[in-house]
Amino acid sequence: MLHGLMMDFPLTLDHILEHARRMYPKKTIKTKLPDGPVREYSYAQFYARIKRLCNVLEALGVAPGDRVGTFAWNSFEHVELYFGVPLAGAVCHTLNIRLPQDQLVYIINHAEDKVIFVDGSLVPLLEPIAHQLETVEYFVVFNARDDQPINLPNLLQYEALMASADESYTWRCTDEKMAMALCYTSGTTGMPKGVLISHRAMVLHTFCVLAGVAFGVTERDVVMPVVPQFHAMAWGLPYASTYVGATMVMPEPHFKPDALAKLIESERVTIAAGVPTIWNGLYHELRRNPRDVSCIEQLIVGGSAMPRGLIEAYEKELGVNVVHAWGMTELSPIGSVSKLGAQHDGLDDDSRWDIKAMQGYFVPGVEARIVDHAGKELPWDGETMGELQVRGFWVVGQYYKIEPDHEHFTDDGWFRTGDVATVDADGYMNITDRTKDLVKSGGEWISSVDLENTLMSHPDVLEAAVIATPNERWGERPLAVIVPLKAGVDQTALNDYLLGHFPKFWLPDDYAVVGAIPKTGVGKMDKKVLRAMYAEGAL
Ligand code: ADP
Repeated sequence: MLHGLMMDFPLTLDHILEHARRMYPKKTIKTKLPDGPVREYSYAQFYARIKRLCNVLEALGVAPGDRVGTFAWNSFEHVELYFGVPLAGAVCHTLNIRLPQDQLVYIINHAEDKVIFVDGSLVPLLEPIAHQLETVEYFVVFNARDDQPINLPNLLQYEALMASADESYTWRCTDEKMAMALCYTSGTTGMPKGVLISHRAMVLHTFCVLAGVAFGVTERDVVMPVVPQFHAMAWGLPYASTYVGATMVMPEPHFKPDALAKLIESERVTIAAGVPTIWNGLYHELRRNPRDVSCIEQLIVGGSAMPRGLIEAYEKELGVNVVHAWGMTELSPIGSVSKLGAQHDGLDDDSRWDIKAMQGYFVPGVEARIVDHAGKELPWDGETMGELQVRGFWVVGQYYKIEPDHEHFTDDGWFRTGDVATVDADGYMNITDRTKDLVKSGGEWISSVDLENTLMSHPDVLEAAVIATPNERWGERPLAVIVPLKAGVDQTALNDYLLGHFPKFWLPDDYAVVGAIPKTGVGKMDKKVLRAMYAEGAL
């Protein structure tokens, strides 16, 4: 074999940070404090603090390969950990603060976290489980109130450690194959499983996020990840923003619509990213209390399907460009993006929104196919539904400490996403459902997602979730659970509305009205809970 003669230059995250220090020392990272001002500092300060953080980690006995947990909202401290932990050669394990206690205990013990960095306001969530954590040697708290009583063993203060740490440090990420982060899937289906991301995968993923084919982030952008940093590495935005010196704005906890609207307006945010429920809330807020959000160039949405009606509402009523993307924790997470191509020039608005509501084309770096039950590849004709399988530069090859099995990986090296999709002749994908959420009625498939999105485009419906309920004759039938916008919504009217879009056998047999749809830890509609509620007769 004849090897190329390029420098041996590993794809490691230190190069992202070094580039930011050289090129953009004066650009800033901001954090909105709850009920307080926006704190800000420069990339130069950020760089120096990360050096200190690496020394802190070393002093705490963290060695390359060790897992270090974070239990935090979005903030610049959390971004420091996003870099500092991997640059010390260790693995940044972002814990989902919204998981139930038993799952948190399971995940922390499974990952064998050595230290956990915790946001002051979240301490009460860790206190009750601290005694069950088998491997944690220290808890390091940041952003705590001065007078806050904290009952955690081996407790240290982040700022005190940072103040006494040295600013010189030699990065310890030497090999691009080293792990840099560990993320557990949020368990929409089953117990959480760990995805261990390498430096190489995250650097390549960062280039993708920076490319125009995905989000095209540049120095001019003001990027606000409204996706929590504990969800799929905040979709890679902190790394991408740092690489090109974009201003980063971290919103305050809880992502309340009015606070988001204010922050977007005051910080002149150009790119904001979040799940559909967040943008649904923001839309209704902006209808009630209009604000100038014309600064937004890309409202990125993913994590679950963005209802077409909401895309239309944003674009038509608010003039906001919506960019729909599909991803998974297992893909670090970006897989596809639905921007319009040259072939769509000249289309009318309605047809453009139809395309934007799709999950879109696969980004460079991710290869995909759809297959039938027997694993046979299916055509890309926009109609044939199949299981979506992917492989690529930042796709998981095995879950952490679990041997690859047939449920998740194929013999010929593809990852089975568990999503069911069609792909059209232009390579645009449409997710029809998750394998586990499809309603299988009389041998036919009914897409719960399609029903939900259409229901949510009805003016009287705020939210809708469709689940399969057992049925003797048909196997399964759809039940629609809705949150109405006004009292007395009529089931017949909703079914008439659906009939304009779907065959009769798709119509829900029943409707249940609830005050709110239960959500998973990352804000997706939690159908596991709805199914359990149904089984208990609570719907
Ligand atoms: P979890 O599996 O715990 O929900 P992830 O955030 O990794 O955690 O979820 C990935 C899944 O979310 C995908 O497999 C898909 O089902 C769903 N998803 C993500 N983005 C979209 C989207 N734009 N449209 C529809 N479904 C999506």
